[in-house]
Amino acid sequence: MEKLTNRSRVVVKKEMTFLESIYLPAIFGGMWITLKHFFKRKTTIQYPEEKRPFSFVYRGLHILKRDEQGRENCTACGLCAVACPAEAITIVAAERKKGEEHLYREEKYASTYEINMLRCIFCGLCEEACPKDAVYLTEELVPSQYNRQDFIFGKDKLVQPLGTSAHPKTYKPYKK
Ligand code: SF4
Ligand code: SF4
Repeated sequence: MEKLTNRSRVVVKKEMTFLESIYLPAIFGGMWITLKHFFKRKTTIQYPEEKRPFSFVYRGLHILKRDEQGRENCTACGLCAVACPAEAITIVAAERKKGEEHLYREEKYASTYEINMLRCIFCGLCEEACPKDAVYLTEELVPSQYNRQDFIFGKDKLVQPLGTSAHPKTYKPYKK
């Protein structure tokens, strides 16, 4: 029968030598390879106790920043949502009421601000589009979840907790 390709090979079953038939050289060869790995630098790390240093351009979990008086910076202009290539951001705007000046910096604020972390590609375009210094990407990893719904982060998880530093390198997000 004609071959479809010329990649096939004829397998020749050759007789084993005495040394091959007692398997000891092969066993010692294998143990030597194992032994060498004891003295090599480990490529695995004990995550989550141990973490690799991130690149200085790493972008992780978002925060919605407050100003120095603790008011939310976001004015619900929607520019971040428009800039987002993954359509991951949902915003509902609301008007600030009398007496809420200590909560929101501008007359308008986001009553709902959600980011779908399963859609997000952590490109940072939302951060660049924001004219109010409100949204930042930190060095934190998005925590793993069991349900898809739990990856939709609302204001409860995104807004910078009062009294914390919002520096993207040192920020510690919400704790469940
Ligand atoms: S980081 Fe990129 S993909 Fe994620 S929400 Fe911001 S703009 Fe959208
Ligand atoms: S985070 Fe910035 S760009 Fe997005 S709605 Fe708020 S103020 Fe506008």
